[in-house]
Amino acid sequence: MVIVLRLGHRKIRDQRLTTHVCLVARAFGADGIIIDGEEDRRLIESVQKVVQKWGGVFFARQTPKGAREIEKWKREGGKIAHLTMYGERMRDVAAVVRQEKKLMVVVGAEKVHGEIYRLADYNVAIGNQPHSEAAALAIFLDRYFEGEELEGEFKEARVRIKPNKCGKSVVKCES
Ligand code: SAM
Repeated sequence: MVIVLRLGHRKIRDQRLTTHVCLVARAFGADGIIIDGEEDRRLIESVQKVVQKWGGVFFARQTPKGAREIEKWKREGGKIAHLTMYGERMRDVAAVVRQEKKLMVVVGAEKVHGEIYRLADYNVAIGNQPHSEAAALAIFLDRYFEGEELEGEFKEARVRIKPNKCGKSVVKCES
């Protein structure tokens, strides 16, 4: 079980980026996402629509307090990987983190509170330069799953893409 916690969502400013974080989480093998910050029902609905159309099992919900979700996850035996440019290098911790089978991957928006660094079992950097939570999450999940997440099938999809050398082929799936 791998889930993502997105901290500090701001409804107006982060709408696109948080949507991308959700899409990355789903497409790169996470089981669901919890979003901390401002309430944003449209965001959750848009993710649910993607799941209905493109298939797979993936949940998206909001939380009033991300730190509590972390504490609860840890009480239930889960581990926390917080992605931050200040963390340890992914290549130095990948082998150990891969052993964790109940993992919450935490990404921030603007400033992440010091408490999160202390609660994390792993503070992981995807390179020690600032970039984006969507990029950091994609690379983290790809290295965690070692590329296998891109080979899986999304069950009960309404449509599927037929890979093509040129052009777009989208086929409707039989229900
Ligand atoms: N000063 C912030 C920090 O602590 O990384 C940068 C904020 S950045 C705009 C938003 C989020 O992107 C961060 O909270 C972190 O989760 C992720 N992020 C950005 N660069 C990263 C990197 N090099 N490695 C891992 N995560 C990164």
